[in-house]
Amino acid sequence: MNWTRGKNTLLLAAQEHDNWDNALSLAASILKRGGLVAFPTETVYGLGADALNETAVRKIYEVKGRPPDNPLIVHVAAAEMIEQLALTIPEEVYILGEKFWPGPLTVVLPKKARVPDITTGGISSVAVRFPAHPLAQRLLSITGIPLAAPSANISGRPSPTTAEHVMHDLAGRIEAVLDGGDCAVGVESTVLSLLSEPPTILRPGGITLEMLQEALGKEILDLTVDSAGETFKSVPLSPGMKYRHYATNAPLYLVEGEEEARWRQMTVLAEHFSKLGSRVGLLIFKESVNSLEAPFVEILGSRREHSEVARRLFDALRKLDAMEVDVIIAEGLEDIDMGKAVMNRLRKASTYILKAE
Ligand code: AMP
Ligand code: MG
Repeated sequence: MNWTRGKNTLLLAAQEHDNWDNALSLAASILKRGGLVAFPTETVYGLGADALNETAVRKIYEVKGRPPDNPLIVHVAAAEMIEQLALTIPEEVYILGEKFWPGPLTVVLPKKARVPDITTGGISSVAVRFPAHPLAQRLLSITGIPLAAPSANISGRPSPTTAEHVMHDLAGRIEAVLDGGDCAVGVESTVLSLLSEPPTILRPGGITLEMLQEALGKEILDLTVDSAGETFKSVPLSPGMKYRHYATNAPLYLVEGEEEARWRQMTVLAEHFSKLGSRVGLLIFKESVNSLEAPFVEILGSRREHSEVARRLFDALRKLDAMEVDVIIAEGLEDIDMGKAVMNRLRKASTYILKAE
């Protein structure tokens, strides 16, 4: 088997050309013994533990430094496994499951008593998801247990989209990381609560409001934005959302607004911080390359390719951190389809949001 050891955390090679079987059986045996294994999903890397084993789940909170009232998403190998976890399964789950599972959609349902309170941050509902990544699916079916798996990063940091990101944050603190390469979606799953009518989006992700409405043929509420379409930065809709997320080491100024105004505002900021002697980092789109400059630049691809931007976002934030910039000036995107999920993450990552006019 191809593996390396980083500060006692095994990095198990499990990309397509590697032999998955040995890596998977080792990972499964660690999980069955109550250990922690990070694994790739199509959204971001998850930090997995047996969702029904209280001691194992407690370790997730400890190594991530995650507040104990922030519930975990439970991953299952097949839609039927949800019956082990949820008290009732509304019709919508079958409709949505048929259409979007396996995939980046999490549903919140009333929980069964066998799901430990610690797994759900002490609340009476459970969030479940059936991931699409083949390695995640194989791991779930080999272990045969539902896996609690929040993003495999230190709480508050950008989510991990590569095995290197996981090792950077958690090497020495967990037993193993399954390295399955880069994550295809790059931002976390859409979280949809089915506890009340109409269903409500608690976190935007790869499956959009429009897609959910079309599948269910009815209205869905998006509680992540207010009536003016502004992202709530501090109102806790879902327990985890009251905490700072995706934070870079340097303060991040997010500049939104029309192109010309945005570039003007970003230039003013970049010049201001340069004069102060700061190392200025820009997080921009390909279209802005000729209009903006700074010593450190990360390009998220074309602003028209929202899926590509989502895929690159967390890696770009981590790269700016690695460049040890003192300030990050980031460019906003349209709040439509996947752009909504990107802007939700960027607004949460930001220290300041400026509306350029
Ligand atoms: P993470 O896996 O770290 O990306 O975080 C999981 C997200 O799902 C957090 O925002 C949680 O607050 C949310 N979540 C998990 N379980 C529930 C639940 N039972 N009710 C509402 N939100 C939940
Ligand atoms: Mg997270």
